[in-house]
Amino acid sequence: MSDIRERCWWLREAMAHPEFVGEPAPALRGDTNADVLIIGGGYTGLWTAWQLKRTAPGIDVVVLERDECGFGPSGRNGGFINGYYDHAETLLELFGADGARAIMAAGARSVRDLAAWMAEHAVDAWFRQDGYIGVASSAAQEGAWRGAITAATTIGIGDRYRELGAAEVAGFARSPVFNGGYFVADGGNVQPARLARGLRRVCMEAGVRLHEHTPVSAFRSGPPAEARTPSGAVRAGQAVLGIGAWAGGWRQFRRSIVTRASFMAITAPAPDRLAEIGWTSGVGICDMRATLRYLRTTPDGRIALGVGGERGAWSGRIDDRFDRDEAGTQHAVDAIHRFFPSFRDVPIEGRWGGPIDVAGTHTPYAGTLPGGNVHYALGYTGNGVGPSHLFGRILAARALGIENELTRLPFVDMQPKRFPPEPLRSIGVAIANEATVRRDDALDAGRRPGRLIDFVARLPRRLGYHLGP
Ligand SMILES: Cc1cc2nc3c(=O)[nH]c(=O)nc-3n(C[C@H](O)[C@H](O)[C@H](O)COP(=O)(O)OP(=O)(O)OC[C@H]3O[C@@H](n4cnc5c(N)ncnc54)[C@H](O)[C@@H]3O)c2cc1C
Repeated sequence: MSDIRERCWWLREAMAHPEFVGEPAPALRGDTNADVLIIGGGYTGLWTAWQLKRTAPGIDVVVLERDECGFGPSGRNGGFINGYYDHAETLLELFGADGARAIMAAGARSVRDLAAWMAEHAVDAWFRQDGYIGVASSAAQEGAWRGAITAATTIGIGDRYRELGAAEVAGFARSPVFNGGYFVADGGNVQPARLARGLRRVCMEAGVRLHEHTPVSAFRSGPPAEARTPSGAVRAGQAVLGIGAWAGGWRQFRRSIVTRASFMAITAPAPDRLAEIGWTSGVGICDMRATLRYLRTTPDGRIALGVGGERGAWSGRIDDRFDRDEAGTQHAVDAIHRFFPSFRDVPIEGRWGGPIDVAGTHTPYAGTLPGGNVHYALGYTGNGVGPSHLFGRILAARALGIENELTRLPFVDMQPKRFPPEPLRSIGVAIANEATVRRDDALDAGRRPGRLIDFVARLPRRLGYHLGP
């Protein structure tokens, strides 16, 4: 059994406060009926539940969660709340200027709506809307953001980005390895576990019937949809799947996503060291590696840093190695020390990881299974904190049979870029990923990557995936 509640500092911190522990949500016992059944108690499932209750207060909603709400990626992530500014190039290519503009506007609105929701429901998730910077953490990454800015200019929102010289980046945070970068004001960060647990409380107060420690072991679309668990079953006219990376193990989604891990580490509080490097605002930072590094601070002066593109899952099977991985979390620790050498003697107080549902287009999508009563959102590819709020609204509208401007966004009902069948998928993704990490590491060290490594790392993009360099 995973000890994620202790390993993940966000969960440890949140669960030390009774308001984030909340009321118990006992496992399902026996059979029951509902109007809407939701599988998964992460942000997607809980936002959908809350939107359903907000739109139709009398509706009967049951949420089934295999663990506890927020103990999956929703309570363990980096806490960056961004819209789609870093996806401008891909969105323009996939959906044209009008489609990309509509998605980016909806993503930006979700950031604002989330902030208002936290204030309205007194969820203190340490929200800071100081924006974020993308930086080149090696000379090779310099200018890697220009494609996004050019695409955004075509879309008509180029003014949301401010390009930064190295001296301006240093004005946000001084690092010996940072070069130039860009700034986007429209973004922020939260303590992710506080947000997930706060959302759990608000859903329960709204009358959502929540059952934790209730894994769904068999599911039938129906209608009615039916979820079987070890201790009972739920039947409902409509169902929503908010199962994140676990979808990779479901027959319906096996070819639509691949599962990768992201690992994080967090330091002890060191506000004096942060002051020395000038990182005193709440601005989040990400670099331009294909296997991204993302980092932010906490109100008590810690640095939390995550690394992307780590371990994969065979056939979508997620095990405890996604929660703990000494090598993966060490990459996060090493990156903290490389970026900020003065943190080398600051203790590390947490190391953990979690699974990521990677879409071939690097953008999430929502849809409805044949039969018309089971709706899903998938493929956040490591960018789901803000977007899951938007997808909660889309999925709630779908379950209520409402068509609106959000259900007409072009990533609703899009055909995902399919991955090859097993064993090609797991082997191919593992090889391409290893090459991408080695390519990034070589460039970080100021070396040219070998030609074979470079070729293999770039292969997914040549094959039409929006993944890798
Ligand atoms: C280390 C890490 C860092 C990240 N950093 C960021 C970031 O800074 N910003 C950002 O935007 N995104 C980030 N992400 C991604 C973000 O966390 C996710 O996109 C988001 O949490 C997805 O929410 P979800 O509800 O769709 O999925 P999840 O949070 O994965 O929730 C799915 C839930 O379904 C449950 N479940 C699965 N199968 C079953 C079943 N059979 N029966 C019952 N329940 C089931 C799981 O237990 C889980 O709780 C990060 C992810 C990781 C792992």
